[in-house]
Amino acid sequence: MTDLLLLPGDGIGPEVTAQVRRVVTALAPDLKVEERLFGGASYDAHGTPLTDEALTTAKASRAVLMGAVGGPQWAGVPRDKRPEAGLLALRGGMEVFANLRPALCFQPLADASSLKREVVEGLDFMIVRELTGGIYFGSPRFIEDLPGGGKRAVDTQVYTTAEIERVARVAFELARGRRNKVTSAEKSNVMDSGLLWRQVVTDLHARDYADVELEHILADNAAMQIVKNPKQFDVMVTDNLFGDILSDISAQLTGSLGMLPSAALGVAGKPGLYEPIHGSAPDIAGQGLANPLAAILSFEMALRWSLDRTDLADKLFAAVNKALEDGARTRDLGGALTTVQMGDAVLTAL
Ligand code: ATP
Ligand code: MG
Repeated sequence: MTDLLLLPGDGIGPEVTAQVRRVVTALAPDLKVEERLFGGASYDAHGTPLTDEALTTAKASRAVLMGAVGGPQWAGVPRDKRPEAGLLALRGGMEVFANLRPALCFQPLADASSLKREVVEGLDFMIVRELTGGIYFGSPRFIEDLPGGGKRAVDTQVYTTAEIERVARVAFELARGRRNKVTSAEKSNVMDSGLLWRQVVTDLHARDYADVELEHILADNAAMQIVKNPKQFDVMVTDNLFGDILSDISAQLTGSLGMLPSAALGVAGKPGLYEPIHGSAPDIAGQGLANPLAAILSFEMALRWSLDRTDLADKLFAAVNKALEDGARTRDLGGALTTVQMGDAVLTAL
């Protein structure tokens, strides 16, 4: 069985994933690693952004780590063959419904004067975003012409009890290993799906997680509080749309896009999907400027959540912190190290 399937993808994806491979070799040489083309690279070679073989391999692996997909060169490709379609097919095929996005500020970055004004020292909370339901997937969904001119566009938000409960469960379980607090964000004041969301989370809490502190917050207020006082949060669970927005706001409090990993988890025992939250960054691709830490920290999450190697995850996390402490900085962090040199810094710290 493959332990880790690497999907380097496009743009800076292959550059940052190459550094993950070096870390795997140094830290966990026993892991069985495989690699497949994905996204635009797969489209160019196979005519599809995700081959059936790659998806089958992904589902049979213990963890999947991807770089990033997409780029301007595939803008003219039919919608269902675009790199991004491959990503949706991968997420859907792997049934990963809970998206974990840490908002974590590394202390050495808070200490660095060049970034001091932009980051929140000591910040450490986790957003759990529902990833496979909600308004991005609900039907009906269409744009139609109106008889009197103009058009009408419809998107539909659908959530079932089961969908809400399984993602809330992930949040409660996570909180138990952290500061034991869950904040559930929705718009129960104006949306029925928000009303159901609040009800299901409340019921699940009473039934299985009464030991965890639970608080409900309206999503607009959540956005404000994340900017105003983000340290009040431990784990925030929310739907697909709000999670998309709130996690991007949170990301900006931690330093750089190049630092932030993510995990997408399905039911226990199934493989997780790990990826940096940044995109393929076509503007810097191929120049050795990309910060590989988001990808390396995504592997750290894979060690923790799919590969049952918490010991190695702790070690890797400490090594990244040490590298930053020793002053390792790529350009996005105000420094001049190349992608490979940042990889070197982590390996040295390891
Ligand atoms: P997507 O639509 O795929 O999410 P995006 O529009 O959010 O992409 P990114 O590709 O993430 O954009 O890039 C946003 C900016 O951040 C770009 O200027 C890019 O160069 C920079 N950036 C992204 N990732 C990194 C990284 N790992 N290291 C350094 N800079 C990065
Ligand atoms: Mg983006």
